Amino acid sequence: QTRRRQRLFELLARAAAFYARVLWESEDATEARRYLAARGLREEVLRSFRVGFAPPAWDRLARAAAAQGFSADELIAAGLCTRSQRGLYDRFRGRITFPICDRRGRVLGFGARRMGTGEGPKYLNSPESELFRKGRVLFGADRARAAAAKRGRVIVVEGYTDVLALHQVGLQETVAVMGTALGEEQFRELERLAPRIVLALDPDRAGLAAMERAGELAERLGLELRVAQLPAGKDPADVVQELGGEAVEQAISSATPLLEYQVSRVLADADLEDPHARDTALEETLRLIAGTDAGIHRQQQLVRRVADELDVPVEWLSARLREHVGGDR
Ligand code: ATP
Ligand code: MN
Ligand code: MN
Ligand code: MN
Repeated sequence: QTRRRQRLFELLARAAAFYARVLWESEDATEARRYLAARGLREEVLRSFRVGFAPPAWDRLARAAAAQGFSADELIAAGLCTRSQRGLYDRFRGRITFPICDRRGRVLGFGARRMGTGEGPKYLNSPESELFRKGRVLFGADRARAAAAKRGRVIVVEGYTDVLALHQVGLQETVAVMGTALGEEQFRELERLAPRIVLALDPDRAGLAAMERAGELAERLGLELRVAQLPAGKDPADVVQELGGEAVEQAISSATPLLEYQVSRVLADADLEDPHARDTALEETLRLIAGTDAGIHRQQQLVRRVADELDVPVEWLSARLREHVGGDR
């Protein structure tokens, strides 16, 4: 059994090397190299993460692996190939490949992105297998480990490109959840990396909902969690590319606890010209502030901010907050 696992790990490592070689050496990958460059990702970081390109043919990897003595069963178990009536074919074709590794740097599977014109979903991942369980791994954990330990914090983003972009601007303590589902097992992994967690998920509905769930989970597990507020509509990779490394560093270093983030979000989203929208925002922020166990000083600070931005007297708002808290009990 361990012998089998070792062979699968070996096969996956060789597949990563194969795809990387294609990316840097093959004419098939000209467009891929251009695509990555246009996204501002440099060769050094791409090489360090073993990013590659799966050629657009049907069975290039299957054949190369077979020539090295790997069986069809092994290729399928590793999630690299699928069987059809006409034989084995490669799962990833014409896509940029990101090896997903465990903490020790062993390749468990791949995320594969199509380029602009490609067909199918934007990302295709390895199937869940005996080696790869997405809910357990954090993309980039092996590369982030040293920096996270040294700096005492780990930055959590959604995607592969976000991790690469942040590494490139010196934030090497970054890992990705590969989507928005941040579960308990991934929290355990985070805990091993550093005591402080900074979430920088995409500032859209899905990311926001994920940060709220994560906030509750972190509280339950007793972990220190903060949330970075990114400019509307931009994920960390976009911020790096469009606004530069300093803008993202600024957002990360001024990350706040979830409550402050939620209040800021409501205030930022409200149309302050519209009295009805201001009332709604006021109720929403009161509900948020009353609903947590934040201490009196944090509550007062938030009340002052809300009062200031929504232009109502602080004393009046404080009284409303007491009603809210009283009303909930
Ligand atoms: P890019 O990675 O090119 O910047 P994006 O920012 O639009 O694209 P998101 O949709 O925000 O990508 O996805 C973030 C992460 O979620 C991806 O890096 C990937 O790990 C995961 N993901 C997204 N779509 C899929 C999918 N269809 N299957 C599996 N994983 C996915
Ligand atoms: Mn997203
Ligand atoms: Mn994104
Ligand atoms: Mn992106």
